[in-house]
Amino acid sequence: MAPSSASPALTGPPIDYKLPDTFNFASDVIDKWAQDPSLKAMIWTSRQGIGSSVSSRRDLTYEDFSERSHRVAKWLGETLGITKGDRIMIMLPRVAAWWDVLLATIRIGAVIIPCTTLLTPKDIEYRLSVGHAKVFVTDKAGAMKLTKVQNKGTLSINILVEEDGSTFPGWHSFYEGVERNTKTGDRVPNLRTTRKDPCIIYFTSGTTGYPKMVLHNHISYPLALKFHGQYWYRLSPHKVFWNLSENGWAKAAWATFGTWNMGATLFIQDDRGAFSVDNLIDTLHNFEITHLCAPPTSFRQLVLPEKLNLMTGPRKPKALTNCLAGGEALNPYVTEIWKKTMGMDIHEAYGQTETTLVCASIIGYDVRPGSMGVANPTVPFAIIDDEGNILPTNKEGNIAILTSKEPRLPWLFDGYVQASGELVLPELINPKTGQRWFLSGDRAVCDEDGYYWFVGRSDDVINTAGYRVGPFEIESCLKEHPAVIESAVVTSPDKQRGEIIKAFIVLTDEYKKRLQGQGNTQKAEMELAKEIENFVAENTAPYKKPREIEFVDTLPKTISGKIKRVELRATERQRKGVDTRL
Ligand code: ATP
Ligand code: MG
Repeated sequence: MAPSSASPALTGPPIDYKLPDTFNFASDVIDKWAQDPSLKAMIWTSRQGIGSSVSSRRDLTYEDFSERSHRVAKWLGETLGITKGDRIMIMLPRVAAWWDVLLATIRIGAVIIPCTTLLTPKDIEYRLSVGHAKVFVTDKAGAMKLTKVQNKGTLSINILVEEDGSTFPGWHSFYEGVERNTKTGDRVPNLRTTRKDPCIIYFTSGTTGYPKMVLHNHISYPLALKFHGQYWYRLSPHKVFWNLSENGWAKAAWATFGTWNMGATLFIQDDRGAFSVDNLIDTLHNFEITHLCAPPTSFRQLVLPEKLNLMTGPRKPKALTNCLAGGEALNPYVTEIWKKTMGMDIHEAYGQTETTLVCASIIGYDVRPGSMGVANPTVPFAIIDDEGNILPTNKEGNIAILTSKEPRLPWLFDGYVQASGELVLPELINPKTGQRWFLSGDRAVCDEDGYYWFVGRSDDVINTAGYRVGPFEIESCLKEHPAVIESAVVTSPDKQRGEIIKAFIVLTDEYKKRLQGQGNTQKAEMELAKEIENFVAENTAPYKKPREIEFVDTLPKTISGKIKRVELRATERQRKGVDTRL
């Protein structure tokens, strides 16, 4: 089955995935690029706190990573006795050692579980209780959190990554351990890993509930993500790729495997979580970054007039040529303004922790603002109804990936790891055709040209007055109003209408000031709300206009920065006296 008969074929270099029987990213990719000793794998920079300038820079070659990760692998395997299949949980800021551990883990066939540094002790406890890790790799800040965790599950080895070599009783010092137990030039044998071997477990973002553990094998992420580097990012040696998301999220794997498969350079900034748009602008101005991959929330802030003035004036990006976004829907207005002002498209992609890239505005294609682009032809997916029937173009349905195709194409995870250790791949079986599908939980439409348009997460779609309304369309319209930085649109219970559309809106500083400047703020707010409601009615359709608007300072977000509409819905139901468990 073609992903969609209407999808335009990809242009560009041919797809050369002759799926190998064995593949080991560390030996097959890193060691290969390391044969060119000058080839840069990473520009690592650090910055301590908002407002401070970059304090240091280190350029690291593929040879550096190859050589270090062999030594780390030797230490983990021979000295600490970590073997194939053991799980290593890693919670570190963006220090180069994170990538040493990733590659070393792949070399010895252990399974890495990356976690964000923003986890609380409670989050860590949850992840340890379901993740069954044997090893925990972290820094001092992480170690302090771990001391507050009551139940550490199966954890037996703790590794501390602090460059000064400091350690705690019962902990192994990473730098000192590698230094003392291995020497320059040490190598471990090339382990031949396959699709049957687990490689990496990511927790999902937790946008709709508890984060789920997603297991990928040595091909479904490390090799399949080559597609990203080759087609979506269009990378080659010496291009410099900066992905803003933190190492605890799957997007970091997309960036690492996508960039390194192509021999390009990762740009890393260790900012200890102190993200600011002004720093983003400064960093693009100061460094030779050619590709920027940022979440839509960052682009929404970059297109504010005062930021664009900086970027087209004194703080012009030094080398930026390509912009990419994913993880959430990107409002068309943002893409349009960016193109008009910066002269660059934003290439959006859609995928999940569970998948690789499903569709994308691939570089070299027409970008249609508001669309997630065209199909990745290597992924057998379609828009289907709730029974598993493939829908024609222009019909809204579920984004689903075919799992019954044999041999199963490896662009999908192996399954959700349950706390019991069992692996579960939920599937919808079409009773008529017998086809099995993995449902993404997202709704979209494919148009006659093969472009995909996101409607919303299935649970976020609003049923009002007999109409189905996706929040994204209204949020995109709201973004066009000059008062709005960003918004979240949800359903809210209503006595007369059953459900109404409600918008939570974060106002620009200018509009906030304007409201405060008026004598009667409440009245001014009501007037602005009315103006915005009418704006939506005029620019989309009257039935799509929010019946209620609430101005808020911030929107509830996951730690990866995604809007949690589920929380806003629950709040509305509570406020209006509806049992939230229903
Ligand atoms: P959880 O599964 O725990 O609720 P999550 O779905 O946010 O969290 P991720 O795997 O990080 O976890 O995100 C994948 C989801 O992000 C997709 O299912 C989709 O809802 C959303 N997404 C990703 N890319 C896009 C895009 N281009 N447009 C719209 N939504 C997107
Ligand atoms: Mg999800």
